[in-house]
Amino acid sequence: MLKIFNSLTKKKEYFIPLTNNIINIYICGVTVYDLCHIGHGRTFLVFDVIIRYLRYKGYLVKYVRNITDIDSKIIYTANNNNESIEELTNRMINFMHNDFSKLNIIKPNLEPRVTSYINEILNLITCLVEKKHAYITPNGDVVFSINSYKDYGILSNCDINNTYYNKVLSKNKNYPLDFTLWKRTNDNHVNWISLWGKGRPGWHTECAAICSHLFGNSFDIHGGGIDLIFPHHENEIAQAICAYGGTYSNIWMHTGIVKVNNNKMSKSLKNYCTIQDLLKLFDGEVIRLFVISSHYRSNINYELDSLLKSYKSLRKLYTTLSYFDSSKFNKDDIDSQCAQLFFQAMDDDFNTPLALSILFNISHKINYLRTKNNNTLAFKLANTLKQLASILGLLNHDSSYFLNQYKKNFSDLTKINKLIQKRNLARKQKKWDIADNIRKQLLLKGIRLEDYNNNTIWFTT
Ligand SMILES: [Zn+2]
Repeated sequence: MLKIFNSLTKKKEYFIPLTNNIINIYICGVTVYDLCHIGHGRTFLVFDVIIRYLRYKGYLVKYVRNITDIDSKIIYTANNNNESIEELTNRMINFMHNDFSKLNIIKPNLEPRVTSYINEILNLITCLVEKKHAYITPNGDVVFSINSYKDYGILSNCDINNTYYNKVLSKNKNYPLDFTLWKRTNDNHVNWISLWGKGRPGWHTECAAICSHLFGNSFDIHGGGIDLIFPHHENEIAQAICAYGGTYSNIWMHTGIVKVNNNKMSKSLKNYCTIQDLLKLFDGEVIRLFVISSHYRSNINYELDSLLKSYKSLRKLYTTLSYFDSSKFNKDDIDSQCAQLFFQAMDDDFNTPLALSILFNISHKINYLRTKNNNTLAFKLANTLKQLASILGLLNHDSSYFLNQYKKNFSDLTKINKLIQKRNLARKQKKWDIADNIRKQLLLKGIRLEDYNNNTIWFTT
């Protein structure tokens, strides 16, 4: 039976859907002001695998992932680019869909844009004001009063009296952690009419309004990156339960952080790694294998070497399959012992590293059986490997396509890595001319290097 770690109770729990075998699941989506990065890739790949598995087990999964198409970063970026909000968000949404489709991430059943849910958001805020969970500040914003909800902090365990949380005192709010539901604005382009004047919704309000509208006051699973636990998800719970009662989400799932070359990813550190950058170098399945080689709750570190390792591992599996006629593979004839081990791993809070190790064991067995000319069993296991991998979204390519597409690129990547090592050695020995020549040589090939602490990160130009 499936067990899931619930961030709300901080333990693994047996999973029982609220309604028969229907699962309502909501994942906080992307704020579309820039290209998606590897952190987005990780979160949505993880939930892609989880949803594939739940569907494989026979659940009817209704998967909703919102798009935040209005917020201060979007307004700032559109103004900076001298384009309209719609132009910017539509462009970024197209990029996002393109990135996700190359990563073979399944589409959500619904992908609500916040700007299409303003009425539901206003209904939620009205309800909170009427029930005295929200108040109007002197500058006209509508703000949620966290002291009006006794369970505030239930998800994040935040201590609301801790000075860390209270260091930003706002003269407009009664309490520092009170958060904005409706932001009064004067901007002509980005506002909606409300009972409290022209304005736009605060970020935390959209997900609570969309979930409550689509799923009612209780649903099965809510997920997102771990950085959203506080304050975003904490605030969602407070609003939804105060307005509509119920439990809101029964299970909360959070994906760990992605670091880049052991540093926090940020634009100021110039190690911002977009999905587009990665897809220039690797097939989507390589990125997928890299992501699910770690458990979804652990933090992961992106560096080129790890992707190369994933590439080599995936190559092994495709090589194993390349000896068989894939047109004869079928969904039914799988080895039950292997399948059982695989399902046990996935049933234990989606333990993908363990599930992958079972796939690699099957691959070893197949190669051994081939040397013994035991082709019938080898074929059965190859079929099993293909079917189980497809639950994880892997081994969907034709083997010969995968094994040939990288011949050129892979030797390029090895070459780039060797040149970077040579340059780092030259820099250590203070041979600046040699180091600089290597940098220029790579630049001519469209590879730009950035040095940060002891790491060298490279980008395609
Ligand atoms: Zn959200």
